Amino acid sequence: MTTTDRNLQLFERAKALIPGGVNSPVRAFRAVGGTPRFVQRAQGAYFWDANDQRYIDYIGSWGPMILGHGHPAVVEAVQKAVLEGFSYGAPTEREVELAEAIIRLVPSIDMVRLVSSGTEAGMSAIRLARGATGRKKIIKFEGCYHGHADALLVKAGSGLATFGNPTSAGVPPEVVQHTIVLEYNNLEQLEAAFTEHGPEVACLMIEPIAGNMNFVRASVPFMKRCRELCTQHGALLAFDEVMTGFRVALGGAQSVYARLIPGFEPDMTVMGKVIGGGMPLAAFGAKRAVMEQLAPLGGVYQAGTLSGNPVATACGLATLKEISKPGFYEALSATTRSLVEGLKGAAAAEGVALSGDSEGGMFGFFLFDELPQNYAKVMTTDGPRFNHLFHGLLDRGVYIAPALYEAGFVSAAHTAQDIADTVAAARDVFKTLPR
Ligand SMILES: *Cc1c(COP(=O)(O)O)cnc(C)c1O
Repeated sequence: MTTTDRNLQLFERAKALIPGGVNSPVRAFRAVGGTPRFVQRAQGAYFWDANDQRYIDYIGSWGPMILGHGHPAVVEAVQKAVLEGFSYGAPTEREVELAEAIIRLVPSIDMVRLVSSGTEAGMSAIRLARGATGRKKIIKFEGCYHGHADALLVKAGSGLATFGNPTSAGVPPEVVQHTIVLEYNNLEQLEAAFTEHGPEVACLMIEPIAGNMNFVRASVPFMKRCRELCTQHGALLAFDEVMTGFRVALGGAQSVYARLIPGFEPDMTVMGKVIGGGMPLAAFGAKRAVMEQLAPLGGVYQAGTLSGNPVATACGLATLKEISKPGFYEALSATTRSLVEGLKGAAAAEGVALSGDSEGGMFGFFLFDELPQNYAKVMTTDGPRFNHLFHGLLDRGVYIAPALYEAGFVSAAHTAQDIADTVAAARDVFKTLPR
C-alpha cells in the first residue's frame, strides 16, 4: 500500500524505532486517535506539518513559545550564542544574568538554581524541601503534574487523605509511601492531612493554576489555607510554576494570588517552559536560607552537566527581555480572552454547552456549563465529543492539545484574524458535534 501522507510515513518509521513513535507520550495522539502531525517548521503563530499543511498553533511547545515561533530577537541571541560555543561545564555570565532576571521578576525567590527540565527542577525542589526541613512527607494534588520523578507518579489511594498508589509501572509502592495525594480545592481533605501528618510534612507542592487537568484555578480560600497550614506546621509551600511562570503574568501565578491575598508568597518556586524560550532550561528557587542547603554549600546534592547551558540561557534571557516590555501581558491576555469568549459565543450560537477560562496567555475550555474545581470533574468530559472537536479543528488547520486534560496556549504572534479564523472553525465543528 502506498500513501502520500508524509505524516503517516514518518509515524510508521518512527513506531519501529521509538516506543509509540514519540519521545513524550501525549504526542502519539492515542487519546484522540489518528496520525500525529510531524512538524517540519514553525513561524509566528503557525507550524507546518510534513505534508506542508499549516496549523494555527495553540500548544506552542506546551507553553514555552510565548513570543510565537522564531521571534527575530530570540533567533539572533541564539545564533550569536551558538558561535561562542555550545557548552562548557564551567560558569558563565549569562547564568548570572538569567538568575538576576528571575529574582527581579519573582520577589519570593532570593536564590535560584538552573537545570534542564521541569521534571529535574521539581524533583530537586522536593529533595531540597526534605533536606531543609528534615522531614519525609510531601503533599500533592490529584490532577497536578510535577514531572515524572518516581515520588510524584502517584494517585490517591482509597479513602480520605490516604497515601497514594503509583501511577506508573516501575515505581515501587515504597517509593510513594511518603507522598500524600489530596483532591484539588478540597479544604476538608487539606485540613485532615495537616491534622494527621502536619509535623512530618516537608512541603506541599501545587500547580496554583493547574494546567495539567486542562485549566483549573485553586480557589482563593483554598490557596489561603494552604499558605496558613504550611506556615503553622513548618512545611514549605512549593509552587510548581513550570507552566504558569512567565505565562499567566510576568510574576507568575504567585503574583496573581498576591493581588487576591495580601502578603501572599510561596516558599519555593519551580519554573520551566517559558524561561527557556523553547530550549531545555528550568529552575527552582526559594529564600536564601533554604537554597543555601544545596551543594556545594549544604548537604543536599544536586548537579547537571548541561545545567545553565549557554545557548539555552541566551534563548531564555532574550525571551524574558521581550516579555518584560510594557503592555506585553495586557495584549496577550486580551488576545487569549478574545479566543475564550469567541469559543463561548460560537458554542452558545450552536446550542453547545461550553465553559472556559484564561489567565495571561494560558486558557482552557470544557464541554459542559460550569468550570470544574477538581480532576474528577474534568474527567467527566465526554471523550468522544472532545475527539470530534479536536479532529474537526485539526482538519480546519487549528491545532489544540490532543487530550482533554491539557491547557492551551496563545502567543504574542496570534493575531485577531487568527482568533477569528479559529472561532469560525470551532463554530463549524460545533454544528456537527454529537449532543
Ligand atoms: C511541563 C510541566 C512539568 C515538567 O516539565 P518537563 O520539562 O516536561 O520535565 C512539571 N510541572 C508542570 C506544572 C508542568 O506543566
